[in-house]
Amino acid sequence: MEILTPNLTPCAASADNSRGRRFPEPLSAYRSEFQRDRDRIVHSIAFRRLEYKTQVFVNHEGDHFRTRLTHSLEVAQIARGIARSLRLNEDLAEAISLAHDLGHTPFGHAGQDALNNCMSDHGGFEHNLQSLRIVDKLEQRYAAFDGLNLCFETREGILKHCAIETASRLGDLGERFIERTQPSLEAQICNLADEIAYNNHDIDDGLRSGLLSLDQLNEVPLFADNWALVKSAYDGVDERRLIHETIRRMINTLVCDLIEMSESNISRCAPRTLDDVRQAGMPIVRFSESIDDAQREMKRFLRKNLYQHYEVLRMTWKTQRIVGDLFAAYLDDPRMLPPAYRGPDKQPRRVADYIAGMTDRYAMKEHKRLFAIGEI
Ligand code: MG
Repeated sequence: MEILTPNLTPCAASADNSRGRRFPEPLSAYRSEFQRDRDRIVHSIAFRRLEYKTQVFVNHEGDHFRTRLTHSLEVAQIARGIARSLRLNEDLAEAISLAHDLGHTPFGHAGQDALNNCMSDHGGFEHNLQSLRIVDKLEQRYAAFDGLNLCFETREGILKHCAIETASRLGDLGERFIERTQPSLEAQICNLADEIAYNNHDIDDGLRSGLLSLDQLNEVPLFADNWALVKSAYDGVDERRLIHETIRRMINTLVCDLIEMSESNISRCAPRTLDDVRQAGMPIVRFSESIDDAQREMKRFLRKNLYQHYEVLRMTWKTQRIVGDLFAAYLDDPRMLPPAYRGPDKQPRRVADYIAGMTDRYAMKEHKRLFAIGEI
């Protein structure tokens, strides 16, 4: 018997309308299908590695900065709250959120760009596709199948975007990019919960690191409006607390707007089934126009002032070299790879899988082992 989350709205994803697992399995007596997916993700090796992978700041730069793991937990927490308010499937929202960044390379986007360059003649590298590859193939922990054998809806949510050429190779999972249909509402929530999480925690980490200043942030209305309110209500309170108070208000503004806007879209579009959601023509989970604009402005601000900050770019340059060097070395002599990553064919893809799976600190250590004269 399927254990259902109570009072789900009819267009929510559930075991009843799921397209199921690639390898059919008997239902669990005590857990819902999406709870099981969440549990499989939490028990995977790729999930534990997120602890030592960069979000924006390289892992060793400080203990208080977000890592991929804490980022994923924040996304899950935000997504679950929104899903619960809209009577959607919390377990599915949690599973997708916890898995959405599994495919990230060491050193964040810099690592991915470097690996994508290395793979330019071999099909490229994209972290989103890699997340899917991990849950479908690379995790080898179950006796009966490769991967985690997750439900279609969880895999659909993990594959956020995809080029048309790639989509045609992905069978039923790629169909929506060709047919331009939508994923479940739970997947749509995770997509925006990701943005809410990183915009806000990057402001927090940016201020903490000293790479961003309050003066700069006060040029962005979403921050400035909340900062002014907090400052006048709590005059004389320590600045760090006021920053946290401002950020929590921003998260609240975004989450409440998303819930209210989506609720009204749901009643307007009136999807009765998950298939109606897929055929809706555009995402139903959305911000209001004004908050969407404010959110985009914040993104532009972070790109210009944090992600392109000269100190971040120095680290980017350095970490791209590490990834490039490792790739060239392994491909030059695959005998240096652990046996599981050597093969009769597709050697570049195997090297990419190996490097993408590394944590920041492992990649740095391995680079030292292979390139530092005097190190063994
Ligand atoms: Mg993310």
